[in-house]
Amino acid sequence: MIRQKIVAGNWKMNGSTESITALVTDLLKAGHSNSEVVVSPSFPYLHLVSTLCAQSDLVKLAAQNVSDKESGAFTGEVSASMLEDFGVKYVLVGHSERRSLYGETDDLVALKIQSLLNKDFTPMFCIGETLEEREAGQTLAVCERQIQAVLSLLGVEAFNRIVIAYEPVWAIGTGLSATSEQAQEVHCGIRAFIAKSSNLVAQRVQILYGGSVKASTSRALFAMPDIDGALVGGASLDAKEFLEIVKAAG
Ligand code: PEP
Repeated sequence: MIRQKIVAGNWKMNGSTESITALVTDLLKAGHSNSEVVVSPSFPYLHLVSTLCAQSDLVKLAAQNVSDKESGAFTGEVSASMLEDFGVKYVLVGHSERRSLYGETDDLVALKIQSLLNKDFTPMFCIGETLEEREAGQTLAVCERQIQAVLSLLGVEAFNRIVIAYEPVWAIGTGLSATSEQAQEVHCGIRAFIAKSSNLVAQRVQILYGGSVKASTSRALFAMPDIDGALVGGASLDAKEFLEIVKAAG
């Protein structure tokens, strides 16, 4: 099964009007790519990036978070329907920084995915193990537990509309990337787990790798049969580096 590659930049809480305008302008100058190129600015910059990208189809927009609630007295939260006003296509959910710093549980992540699928968004569903869990041989069990919460709430067909990002927590922002073989092993295990519910859905679902991806490591990752692209943090703030990763994806 041919799955389109996705290269998504997670800008986290970085950037300003000036730096984001420059970054997007450089990305747009690069022209067409066979991969889906995605950027995720912080909420205040969604409108700016949406406007900058309005004339072209080259760069898709992602938000970094969403509330599981529709509206009401939830100070500081942003709903899925609000994101509809900004040309957002993807939304990150379950990022390890949200799980570890803001206490997001597997169940809450599943509810957020539900609120996105009730609209027309594609959740980028982040999963992955900590270093302790990896050392205890728990890597796949953790990923399966995180996926199971979504399977239990929404069923396997939901994964026809979800992109998974496998992001080992120990590799995020640390400069320690999983090797392409380590990542492939987990991606293959994730696909096999989903195949227990539906082989067709498992073959279709795009699984990105995230964790200190750089231009220099991306080609080997993308050569792996079950790696369908990358979720890139730090390196996505540098247009040249990010575009090299996009190029490596083909
Ligand atoms: C991320 O934040 O999703 C990420 C993968 O970050 P980095 O590439 O900086 O490790």
